[in-house]
Amino acid sequence: MSDHDFQGACQTEQAAVIWNQRALFNQIGAAILVTDLRQRILRVNDAFHRLTGYALDEIIGQTPKILASGRQSPAFYAAMWQALKEDGHWEGEIWNRRKCGEIYPEWLVINVLCDDAGEPSGYVATFSDISKLKHAESEIQHLAFYDPLTALPNRRLLLDRLEQARMSGKRKAEHGALLIIDIDNFKILNDTLGHDIGDHLLIEIACRLKLCIRECDTAARQGGDEFAVMLEALDPHPRAAAVSAEAVAEKIREELARPVMLAHGHEHYCTASIGVSLFRGQDKSVETLLKQADIALYKAKEAGRNATRFFDQAMQTTLDQRARLESGLRHALARDEFVLYAQAQVDAAKGLVGAELLLRWQPVGLPMVLPNDFIPLAEESGLIVPIGLWVLNTACAMLRSWADDPSRRDLYLSVNVSARQFRQPDFVDQVSAAIARHGANPRRLKLELTESLLLDKVEEVVFKMRALRLLGVCFSLDDFGTGYASLAYLKRFPFEQLKVDRSFIRDITSDPDDAAIVRAIIAMGNSLRLSVVAEGVEDEAQHAYLVEHGCTLFQGYMFGRPVPLPVFEAVLGARSDAEVAVPDPVIGIELD
Ligand code: C2E
Ligand code: MG
Ligand code: MG
Repeated sequence: MSDHDFQGACQTEQAAVIWNQRALFNQIGAAILVTDLRQRILRVNDAFHRLTGYALDEIIGQTPKILASGRQSPAFYAAMWQALKEDGHWEGEIWNRRKCGEIYPEWLVINVLCDDAGEPSGYVATFSDISKLKHAESEIQHLAFYDPLTALPNRRLLLDRLEQARMSGKRKAEHGALLIIDIDNFKILNDTLGHDIGDHLLIEIACRLKLCIRECDTAARQGGDEFAVMLEALDPHPRAAAVSAEAVAEKIREELARPVMLAHGHEHYCTASIGVSLFRGQDKSVETLLKQADIALYKAKEAGRNATRFFDQAMQTTLDQRARLESGLRHALARDEFVLYAQAQVDAAKGLVGAELLLRWQPVGLPMVLPNDFIPLAEESGLIVPIGLWVLNTACAMLRSWADDPSRRDLYLSVNVSARQFRQPDFVDQVSAAIARHGANPRRLKLELTESLLLDKVEEVVFKMRALRLLGVCFSLDDFGTGYASLAYLKRFPFEQLKVDRSFIRDITSDPDDAAIVRAIIAMGNSLRLSVVAEGVEDEAQHAYLVEHGCTLFQGYMFGRPVPLPVFEAVLGARSDAEVAVPDPVIGIELD
């Protein structure tokens, strides 16, 4: 449209304003269209031609309906005409169709034109193509709400959908279900075969998950090897809803169990643990729902993995107890509620060589809590760090108090160190500071680590162990045989000692497999120049078998149960003073 033509179509003052904006419209590539009152097109500009594909002679005399995409409802147009009638102006987003048939989004501004007498004389519309903007917008949306590796919705979008489902579920009275799916032993695959192969497996899992759900359900990746599935519109009856949710969970486990061909012809068999929690409307918050599904998942893993578990009331009770335990644990150090027990370690001649410190929690007015019931919680919450430091300091103070006594100064004190504690960046400093503060002999301090610590960040673990070895501290590998560490793998770490887990010792005289394992551990430990301690020795037959097969160090009820430190000290005193009677051997230490 030439300047002249356009001017001809815009005789009024208002048209002149639009005319003045023309340069701007052309600059931003906006199309302009002028019609009379009956919407017959009088004029268009060059940008209109570029945008819609229509030539001037094809469009003059037509109405803008020629551009309609069919996507807008009659109500949409009714509102638009209403606004034009009342305000003389309308603007908004609309989908139109190009001559070639392509539908595209545009931003459209329409003004009513008036003649000099102020009477409406026509319409002027300006519009621009906003498809690029929309595309960018949707890309940003995608990045924010989808996992880039698997293209599944991410945790954020899952939370959003859970919230929506809660709202709509209230109206429909139907149940929904949240399934949290954890891939068993994924970390081992990732660490041994590499992250590329791990990624490949995650993508395959995402595809298979989608096969197991309906259009209205959501499969999401929560992060790492954890996926989630939200099922909607299940039965109003909780039992029937649970049956449907279980069927989906089983289908998922079956689907994931089919072999996956990974790179280099590696065939992988995958299993999954699934935790399920049902919801109905707004009966629980999203946070509670996630927590419940997590607890159920934990139970599935506890049941040996490759299993599905539903959250139920008994679990809720456990959850409440756990919350109470955790809040109590937070104050336990300040309230001085931790107590250390010691359990004797003896040599083949049953002579005392040292003791292991074992923690107990004695909340005021409540029964004593054993470590297996609070250490995992202390690890999860991070409380194990200050607690572990307290144990370490107590051990160092004890070693110092033994240093001047010839009957005690050669005894070792073993302290259990949890993985989370060891992973503290300043762990080496913490240990050396405790030794220095109390003036303890570091050569008598033994730190017990478990195999789980050895699976990750090997270099860092070896570095810290070496630094502590230089100080004189030595290391024992606790519960050996229950984890993944092989003896060959062990050579990488500067251990001085292995402790054979007591689950092997228990049936050593009746179970030939356990006996064979223990014999192998002793033989290989000896060949690697590691001393071997048998844990949990309870009777003479076990002891005799172990001695016969070359085991030299022992710990177990047979030589003494764990006893409070003052009792242990008293027994030591009795040992050095032959006149003092030895306490009850059931709780004390049976002496040679
Ligand atoms: P652990 O280090 O393997 O300790 C040996 C466990 O076996 C102790 O359980 C001990 O009482 C028990 N035990 C020893 N001899 C026998 C026996 O002859 N028969 C039987 N049935 N059991 C025996 P406890 O004291 O309940 O400790 C359990 C675990 O808690 C410990 O296993 C250790 O992993 C952890 N733990 C204890 N104290 C601490 C601590 O201060 N810090 C950390 N991080 N963990 C600790
Ligand atoms: Mg131990
Ligand atoms: Mg142990």
